[in-house]
Amino acid sequence: MKRVSTQQNRYFIWTLGCQMNLADSQRLASELEKLGLQAAESPRDADVLVVNTCVVRQGAEEKGVQRLHALHKLKRQQPEKIIGLMGCMVGVRDPLPLRKRFPFVDVFMAPSDPQPMVTFLKERGIEDSRAIEAEARALQDALQDELLILPAHERGNLVAAHVPIVYGCSHACSFCIIPFRRGVERSRSVGEIVAEVRSLARQGVKEVTLLGQIVDRYGKDIPDGPDLADLLRIVHEVGTAEGILRIRFLTSHPNWMTDKLLDAVAELPAVMPHIEVPVQAGDDEILRRMKRGYTQAQYRALIERIRARIPEVAINTDIIVGFPSETEAQFMQTYQLLEDLRLDKVHIAKYSPRPQTLSERTMPDDVPEAEKERRRQLLDEQHARISAERNAQWLGRRVEVLVEAAQGDKWRGRTPQNKLVFFADEQDRRGQLVEVEITWTGPWSMQGRLPSAAAQPDSLQAEAIQ
Ligand code: SAH
Repeated sequence: MKRVSTQQNRYFIWTLGCQMNLADSQRLASELEKLGLQAAESPRDADVLVVNTCVVRQGAEEKGVQRLHALHKLKRQQPEKIIGLMGCMVGVRDPLPLRKRFPFVDVFMAPSDPQPMVTFLKERGIEDSRAIEAEARALQDALQDELLILPAHERGNLVAAHVPIVYGCSHACSFCIIPFRRGVERSRSVGEIVAEVRSLARQGVKEVTLLGQIVDRYGKDIPDGPDLADLLRIVHEVGTAEGILRIRFLTSHPNWMTDKLLDAVAELPAVMPHIEVPVQAGDDEILRRMKRGYTQAQYRALIERIRARIPEVAINTDIIVGFPSETEAQFMQTYQLLEDLRLDKVHIAKYSPRPQTLSERTMPDDVPEAEKERRRQLLDEQHARISAERNAQWLGRRVEVLVEAAQGDKWRGRTPQNKLVFFADEQDRRGQLVEVEITWTGPWSMQGRLPSAAAQPDSLQAEAIQ
């Protein structure tokens, strides 16, 4: 029988796909470290190797399969390696067909559920690492028994973290596989979320992003439960008292963006003016076939409503091109919508038929690949142009940047609108909120400099003198 001893218990996790997967991988890493495992520098040094998969499009699924094939080779050479498969490839269903397809995989984990790996490792004699476990427990006590202990290399280093608040999804968009793989919508309790935010703050995190497939449906499955606006107020109060500087949330569905929610965003200073609200298409017939539940006119009205309530808000969206039966004229409706709305960022995907979905079962994938690619490129060029113009508005202005990490010889951070900013400074700025003067803007990022002390506004100078 394989044994995991203290000398060899290292893990490596590949994360594919969305922020929810990033958060899930972090939770898995946290659980592994509580068992005494440590992060490996490279896969070669790891004893436990996990692929956290995405299946939202076929291309994403193929990446996971490729990684698994590479791990199969490794497992043949070194059978003692423990291989885990997590995420949407596994889903919440019976993993039997997957077990047959990938017999070399030791552990299958549904999205957001690291428990099968924990059980497997415990059964393999992980008790060897009691000393480390005791250390983890001490740390946990110090954090008042809270849920999430960041992996050692991230503790005190991670500036921005993700906190899932709604698992699963119950809105059956006709193209989307996620409800089949992540199960029905389940909101986490306020207590659990607040405890997690607090523990992240105590481990040095400065920004939290609350996650859900339809994050603005938070609480709808809890009788008399709080909604996202209520939750934001609570997280704001507890989080800022613990040192959280910024709060974001994603992804919103247009139909659940109430004025109450927008007012909470506008009023709460640490909740950033940044909304992710996918439209998917700009043609009403396509939207109907997608089962999105709104018209393009309603989406336009929503954007107006958001902009009227939240000053200098950045609004990002997702688009699918080449949905079944989408004509050139229907695609041009999407193009025109984006031209008119001038959103900040557009995530563009080519339609990919996914198993079990309504569109895959009932609508032929009849837009040729070359045509999908042409439409994608047209939107890409439009996006680069509009984003460049929108970002240019920041040129010469001073913005607050939360510094996330060093990149090359610069610091990398984000503005309240979630725009990337790079600037140079001798001092260690990680985790700090700094005022940066924007000196260059492009479609995907901006560059800036710290204003010299003499040029600081009076209030800041006064503070510096005191
Ligand atoms: N829950 C989010 C979407 C999560 S998936 C929402 O309600 O919008 C992220 C993005 O992937 C989607 O917004 C969509 O643009 C894209 N996507 C999902 N299924 C897809 C498919 N079958 N083909 C192409 N893109 C898809």
